[in-house]
Amino acid sequence: MTGRTDSAQRREEKAARIRHLLSTEGESVERNTQGFNRGRYDAVADLSDYEELKDQARAVKEDAIARLPELIEEVRESVESRGGHVYLADDADDANRYIREVVEDEDADSVVKSKSMTSEEIEVNDALREAGAEVWETDLGEFVLQVADEAPSHIVAPAIHKSEDDIAELFNAHFDPEEPLETADDLTRFAREYLAERIAEADVGMTGANFVAADTGTLALVTSEGNARKTVAATDTHVAVAGVEKLLPRFEDVAPFVELIGRSGTGQAITSYVTFLTPPGDAPTLDWDADATGPADDREFHLVLLDNGRMAMRDDDQLRETLYCIRCSACLNSCANFQHVGGHAFGGETYSGGIATGWEAGVHGLDSAGEFNDFCTGCTRCVNQCPVKIDIPWINTVVRDRLNRGEGPAGGDGSSFDFLVDGLTPDEETDSSGLGLQKRVFGNFPTLARLGSATAPVSNWVARAPGARALAERVLGVDSRRDLPEFRRESLRDWFTARGGPAVGDADREVVVYPDPYTNYVEVERGKAAVRTLEELGVEVRIPDLPATGRAPLSQGMISTAESQAETVADALGPMLDAGRDVVVIEPSDLAMLRADYRKLLPDETASRIADRSYELFEYLYGLLENGADADGLRAGDGEELAYHAHCQQRTLGLEEYTTEVLGELGYEVRTSDAECCGMAGSFGYKREYYELSMDVGADLRNQFADAERAVASGTSCCEQLSALRDETVPHPIRYIAPDE
Ligand code: SF4
Repeated sequence: MTGRTDSAQRREEKAARIRHLLSTEGESVERNTQGFNRGRYDAVADLSDYEELKDQARAVKEDAIARLPELIEEVRESVESRGGHVYLADDADDANRYIREVVEDEDADSVVKSKSMTSEEIEVNDALREAGAEVWETDLGEFVLQVADEAPSHIVAPAIHKSEDDIAELFNAHFDPEEPLETADDLTRFAREYLAERIAEADVGMTGANFVAADTGTLALVTSEGNARKTVAATDTHVAVAGVEKLLPRFEDVAPFVELIGRSGTGQAITSYVTFLTPPGDAPTLDWDADATGPADDREFHLVLLDNGRMAMRDDDQLRETLYCIRCSACLNSCANFQHVGGHAFGGETYSGGIATGWEAGVHGLDSAGEFNDFCTGCTRCVNQCPVKIDIPWINTVVRDRLNRGEGPAGGDGSSFDFLVDGLTPDEETDSSGLGLQKRVFGNFPTLARLGSATAPVSNWVARAPGARALAERVLGVDSRRDLPEFRRESLRDWFTARGGPAVGDADREVVVYPDPYTNYVEVERGKAAVRTLEELGVEVRIPDLPATGRAPLSQGMISTAESQAETVADALGPMLDAGRDVVVIEPSDLAMLRADYRKLLPDETASRIADRSYELFEYLYGLLENGADADGLRAGDGEELAYHAHCQQRTLGLEEYTTEVLGELGYEVRTSDAECCGMAGSFGYKREYYELSMDVGADLRNQFADAERAVASGTSCCEQLSALRDETVPHPIRYIAPDE
């Protein structure tokens, strides 16, 4: 089988798997995650000091991870001084061996557990069963999955993919109760009674820990059902399993996390139970058979701190941030792709969602991360939702880069069609064994667009020729149901030069309109409209020959290429900034490069200078109007409605309102949607394997705008997606306010 056929088959298999999940689990996952997400927006809006709490939480985590070896020794002393035991386990086998020995020493037949992703990570249930102990999950979601023999699909709500009907069917078939279980009340009552018996029979109780205070040895457990307390109180021996990253220096440090974790995850101001245990406890032990109590001295406590790759993550400049994660699930619930397929597609061996890429790469290896890394589109909607300010898309980009370089499973297709991109990939990534043809094509879009424009209309005829789409799907993995961009022979720059360059002289303000590849070669009319609008407001406009920002390669995980393009852009922009010109960017993803991503790619001073002087088009127009520019020459609405979808990265940068404000001031009635993403996300929706997911995500937006007569969108990919969903051309909003030619 050729490499190319191999890739096409892998894509088909992935598409089939996604289709299956969309039809079986999608509805429940969507309903639950979107409910959590809406709850989170409401719950954090009530916090007047939300940003301060996030800063505090971040600072505590940075300090804790920096001092981790010291904190491990400190917690060892504090727990052992109370008569407990601390074991630092190197890996899953080591942790399981220790826990098995504890269970064997106790002669325990039965172990009850509360919810713990870390114990999922080490698969302790299997290890204990092999040793002859019965293990029962007492968290309702985990119990459902134990009965169903399925893996969690969400880090906080593990059975999120199951509906009430699914669970009723499962319990009735498995337990065959006298009366069929039908309602949520029936199911929870049954599970509570069933598990109460298991808890009473158990010899050992296992918990995780959301946080562990090194100074006191206190475990903080944040739960909805109180089962962690029962698990600990009812058994004589308590084993807590926690990743080493759960350590916080002081007990007081837990405070900001308690404020943030429930709000960020499920949208609750506080979860039903916040339990602080400083074990071994001094409550008497319970003898259920004799209905009596025993001495508190009989209580035993073991804290198993798990390394399993975490100390190596701590030494890894790019993955270290993952260790700040408190597993709240905000990044899962706010992710449009996750909302539609859940963790059974967007997840690895243990963890799910965008941050799972970091966790899986760190604890299970790049192979596991590589299975789902591409589900992160880099839309950045999760970034502002993370209570510890982790740059989750960047972690995904870094892991993608490592996969491209062949450090993980081979993603490259060893294709005989490599000649198609020869000479396009401009740096060492060309030789990377993991960089497939599909990524090389999308990562080189600016070059392809330049060639497509130079050879238009032939390039467009070739793309539309019979069989061309099928070939592009088979060879490049570009879904044949997508319309391909139509290149314009006269680029925006050509037009600007042909008309004689700047039309306004002696202006107070001079700007550079960034000729991003879409505006320059495809969506030329929006570029012309931007120029006419700026000039009408008295601005001197220039459109120099600037290189691409590096957005395309960065989106494919080609960091070196993006970095070298960023350096070229910085060199080219330098003299223009020196001359006092501002930079106006029409394509929001390119603006995000200049405003945010360059901070990762360029020296701080250079990145800050570019970021400070770069503006989104409507942001700039808003500033001009606020400063007295005369809008009389612009086109105005007469109360007509515009349904407006802002680009994801534009919203993350807090820029959506400039467009709604300007359109509103000019007489349009603007409505927006609460869909986190249109589903296209750059090249994502073009890819064969993700087309159906992309359209499913887009359906939310289509439905919200179903009765809108006119829709507009800021990003090229948003316009393409909305055009496909609405079966009409959806333009950039500048087209509604620009003066006529
Ligand atoms: S990365 Fe941030 S938002 Fe995502 S689970 Fe971790 S703490 Fe929560």
